[in-house]
Amino acid sequence: MDFLAPLKIAEKNSGVSTGITALPAHGELIQSHSPVDGKLIATVQAADKNDYEAVIVKAQSAFLEWRTWPAPKRGEVVRQIGEALRAHKEPLGKLVSYEMGKSLQEGYGEVQEMIDICDFAVGLSRQLYGLSMHSERPAHRMYEQWHPLGIVGIISAFNFPVAVWSWNSMLAWICGNVCIWKPSEKTPLCAVACQNIISEVFKRNNVPDGVSGLVTGGRAVGEWLSADTRVPLLSATGSTRMGKAVGATVGARLGRALLELGGNNAIIISEHADLDIAIRGSVFGAVGTAGQRCTTTRRLIIHSTVYDSIKTKLVAAYQQLSIGNPLDENNHVGPLIDKDAVVGYQKALEACKKEGGRFIVEGGVLDGDGFESGCYVKPCIAEVEPHFNIVQQETFAPILYLMKYNTIDEAIAIQNGVPQGLSSSIMTLNLREAEQFLSASGSDCGIANVNIGTSGAEIGGAFGGEKETGGGRESGSDAWKAYMRRQTNTINYSTQLPLAQGIKFHV
Ligand code: NAD
Repeated sequence: MDFLAPLKIAEKNSGVSTGITALPAHGELIQSHSPVDGKLIATVQAADKNDYEAVIVKAQSAFLEWRTWPAPKRGEVVRQIGEALRAHKEPLGKLVSYEMGKSLQEGYGEVQEMIDICDFAVGLSRQLYGLSMHSERPAHRMYEQWHPLGIVGIISAFNFPVAVWSWNSMLAWICGNVCIWKPSEKTPLCAVACQNIISEVFKRNNVPDGVSGLVTGGRAVGEWLSADTRVPLLSATGSTRMGKAVGATVGARLGRALLELGGNNAIIISEHADLDIAIRGSVFGAVGTAGQRCTTTRRLIIHSTVYDSIKTKLVAAYQQLSIGNPLDENNHVGPLIDKDAVVGYQKALEACKKEGGRFIVEGGVLDGDGFESGCYVKPCIAEVEPHFNIVQQETFAPILYLMKYNTIDEAIAIQNGVPQGLSSSIMTLNLREAEQFLSASGSDCGIANVNIGTSGAEIGGAFGGEKETGGGRESGSDAWKAYMRRQTNTINYSTQLPLAQGIKFHV
């Protein structure tokens, strides 16, 4: 494991840090096993409540200084973080791949996404624009400005162990906030590695210690952050179950929650589709990252006239898939994150069969040589009816459901007929149906694409989804506004005190 040394990952690591300083940790010992081969990579000591308190206190005092730094100067620190990530792209990408189980290309891709968001944030640090308005009163000036919030809590999921943190923290930092990160307990080493990389940059730039807190641990640590009134914004990425709990706790204290939760993404394949693009987009979307992306394609809604031909092509494509060690670039499909995920996959297959689903590509768990971790499963395809209970749920595994439609209205209704609303797409060369899909009466998702699949997104757009996906938006466009508070300012430079709405008040 040559990639651990450049990331300063030791056999035993503290999972508590204030950005520059790793603090002694007193919580549970997390053993990080790779789903690739089941081997122990290293251990991380998690935070207990006192460790958490120490990180919060440090963050509070760091904020008092950090918020006074000019935004472009904060951007310069983020620019250097981007450089440090470029220098560590190879080892960090390998660690992401080995600890999480995604392919090496996707591991590198995830680090590239971090680099891209750094670049985006650097430019943004000179563009935190507010509007100016014309006052209705003479010799008055009105404008708005954006100020930082304070401590931004970040709870992240296992499947994007580093990118989601960077989407949040790079933007939050240039806005003048300090961050406290609670990474997934399934990928704690990725978090320790990121912290080690940025601590060098922070030291060099005399950034106050506390700007980047790390509190590793399980659900309880996430619950401390949710309930903490010292954390004005909590950004939480993970399952809808988690989001409902976090949303309720943060809402009860009138804090702000930015929720990025589960998806149940569909591609509509029209009779006007370029079938080659449709097949490639569907297969990559369904089996990439072993079906463990929030944007994974879980449903194909296919026009009845092309249904059989799509089915035949899909079966042929699935026969070509090579399952195995994701660090080997010849393999298309790696492992699920752990054995619990394998059980979830098996239960979904059973439930689908019970409801009447017909498997045209059978699933199953792999064992034997190369599959010792017990986490490798076969990507599979089932023909179903849209209303099946199992089809309404997100199973975080490579299971693809096929269903038929006859009219575009019907297809859109099926696409929208699930509780989640993250990513969607239509494969068509017909302008009318493409525009209908993108219109207000079309897809109800946060992301709607034409002639590309559901999975993956560029950092330049705002990322997130509706309904049970939580409504949050992160990354590009004007997502930065979620990390700031808006202040409206009115300045009177006249010799009078005129009131708004023409109100007269004589004393
Ligand atoms: P998870 O919900 O099990 O855990 C996510 C994080 O939340 C972990 O850090 C966990 O410790 C923490 N957590 C769990 N329960 C909590 C609670 N009650 N209070 C506070 N924190 C709590 O999710 P996972 O299995 O790690 O990730 C897979 C899920 O994440 C999928 O549903 C996937 O769609 C979703 N996801 C969504 C996006 C998005 O941007 N919409 C991105 C990545 C993953």
